[in-house]
Amino acid sequence: MLISGKEISKKVRDQIKDQVTAIKNANKRVPKLVVILVGEDPASKIYVRNKARGCDYVGMASEIIRKPAETTEDELVELLESLNHDDSVDGILVQLPLPKQINENRILNIIDPTKDVDGFHPSNVAKLVLEEDGLQPCTPRGMMVMLEEIGYDLTGKEVVVVGRSNIVGKPVAFMALNRNATVTICHSRTRDLEKVCQRADVLIAATGKPKMFNHNHVKKGAVVLDVGMDHDENGKLCGDVDFDDVKDIVSYITPVPGGVGPMTITMLLDNTLKAYQAKQGD
Ligand code: NAP
Repeated sequence: MLISGKEISKKVRDQIKDQVTAIKNANKRVPKLVVILVGEDPASKIYVRNKARGCDYVGMASEIIRKPAETTEDELVELLESLNHDDSVDGILVQLPLPKQINENRILNIIDPTKDVDGFHPSNVAKLVLEEDGLQPCTPRGMMVMLEEIGYDLTGKEVVVVGRSNIVGKPVAFMALNRNATVTICHSRTRDLEKVCQRADVLIAATGKPKMFNHNHVKKGAVVLDVGMDHDENGKLCGDVDFDDVKDIVSYITPVPGGVGPMTITMLLDNTLKAYQAKQGD
């Protein structure tokens, strides 16, 4: 069966919209997200625009701050420090990747962790690992919400995550572990990947390699979450999983497009609301 990120995302966005409407009706300040875009990367421009549209949909305030590609690290730090101190701002997101002259890790460290709606600040990473309340990365959170929506309990399940990036692979592995799954993390040096993947009750594909997972990787009845946003040989958007080759083996699968992708911005909106509520003491 398909897990429709589009439908689940709509449902969650409507719930967020209701909460924002209640805030407005109480004559309170609405949550605000600020997105910083440095440079002219075409994909980043689209992502940033979609984030602002998401805010519009749920009734949150948003601001896109565009900086030229030659912006220095110190200029960006100065901007972030002023946003950290701005009480009207609940969420701050710096669109990655940043131009080469800027050290991404330094920038992610500067953002106030209580406004870090991407969940990339080391303090939020530690909170995830330590199972403390904090802001968590959006794409992995989206996958957890999808599993909840289909009523899937991870307790005792074998979860195999392929990909170990800081934004997807590692955080989703900890989220699954925190839900009592037995987790294996694979990467480009993993030996006999097919055999490891065949163990999976839940296979999370996050490599960025178009259609690299096929029936040889998937156990009968497995749940497959496909994070990939790749392009096939004809330039068409596809996932890391060869959907047609595995669709009759799996119990559930996320399509690309319309699967994990739409959940990411929805979770960003949810994180912004969460950051706002924590600030208001709600
Ligand atoms: P990334 O930083 O490039 O990491 C890819 C990971 O996959 C690395 O850990 C790499 O291993 C591993 N890998 C690559 N080729 C492999 C292979 N042949 N066998 C086993 N492991 C392999 O990518 P990312 O940022 O995590 O993104 C992964 C995919 O998700 C991309 O398609 C991206 O566009 C997509 N994505 C989608 C969303 C969304 O909202 N839907 C959000 C974020 C990312 P090594 O560490 O050993 O190099």
